Amino acid sequence: MNHTEKKWTLEEVLDVYNMPLLELVFRAATVHRQHHDPREVQISTLLSIKTGGCPEDCGYCPQAARYHTDIEKNDLMTTDQVRTAAMRAKSLGSSRLCMGAAWRNVKDDAEFDHVLDLVRTVNSLDMEVCCTLGMVTESQAKKLADAGVYAYNHNLDSSEEYYKEIISTRGYEDRLQTLDNVRKTKMTVCSGGIIGMGESVEDRCKMLITLSNLDPQPESVPINALVAVEGTPMEDQEPVAIWDMIRMVATARIVMPKSTVRLSAGRTNMSYEGQALCFMAGAGSIFAGNKLLTTPNPEMFEDLEMFHLLGLKPTEPFAKGERPEAREPAEVLVDEGPKEKIRWSRPGHTIEANVKYQEIARAKRQAEKEEK
Ligand code: SF4
Repeated sequence: MNHTEKKWTLEEVLDVYNMPLLELVFRAATVHRQHHDPREVQISTLLSIKTGGCPEDCGYCPQAARYHTDIEKNDLMTTDQVRTAAMRAKSLGSSRLCMGAAWRNVKDDAEFDHVLDLVRTVNSLDMEVCCTLGMVTESQAKKLADAGVYAYNHNLDSSEEYYKEIISTRGYEDRLQTLDNVRKTKMTVCSGGIIGMGESVEDRCKMLITLSNLDPQPESVPINALVAVEGTPMEDQEPVAIWDMIRMVATARIVMPKSTVRLSAGRTNMSYEGQALCFMAGAGSIFAGNKLLTTPNPEMFEDLEMFHLLGLKPTEPFAKGERPEAREPAEVLVDEGPKEKIRWSRPGHTIEANVKYQEIARAKRQAEKEEK
């Protein structure tokens, strides 16, 4: 993808987003058909290879150690566990496995070496491997690419302005830096966001503009609807209306015509009809499996039924790019060079809701301790 794409202004994107709905869907569907096969939808599986205990304060996330939620924490999964999960996902039609770890950033340690082994294992099963591991440096991104990662996911979440209302432990520029580091490798870029966190329509459109201005545009753009989880600062957010999801998918499709727009978290609240409109408007992928990292997702048989009803077929692996060759550690010439200085930011501004829920969590843990 070369950056020959149109540069969108906020006013133009708002006009697209706010168009009469059926007009918007028609326009997005027209763009979709110019660049994609509208009968194909990729099934991807998201696997949490290390769950919970994250040091960050993302206001939407049940995996942040500072909040008190019901998730089960897990150490890094073994190679056998990941191979079994990947083979099961493949047998049910998934062509991509996305492995997620609840880390702030990747560290050059034994756990990262193990993740590289997991990548090689899944690559050998002829599946697209995606990783979402937090911030990565250029050399870490290169190691992931050499191990056979096809896509690296790192979401912008929202507009730069609204990002400061949700997360205080890292800055927006860190996200962009990671995407830049990924782009310097053979890996493809997967980056999108979440709606329903209290942001304005303007924030949604600004995020799409930032994504569309990346050069080249991301190959993948996941659009998530917030799944409000008890114990997180966003537990009381209203569910996202399906119409907002359709508008967001359609607008993403129009401003990033060649990207695969992914209908991601929040599908349990969507009817088949609602999802059908999202596919019509340009969604080219769903995440399958009854859990998305830690939040609920439709059962696989329901998705297969929906595919059958709508006459959709799952996309084959590597339909949009070559399978990366996975190199063994001995084959990789590591240029130790001058040690990379990692300067990920830590803005540390106060987000009242995050602080409040951290205090609630502390009080709950204390009460649990006293009960024992
Ligand atoms: S979204 Fe990612 S970085 Fe943020 S708290 Fe959750 S696991 Fe950590």
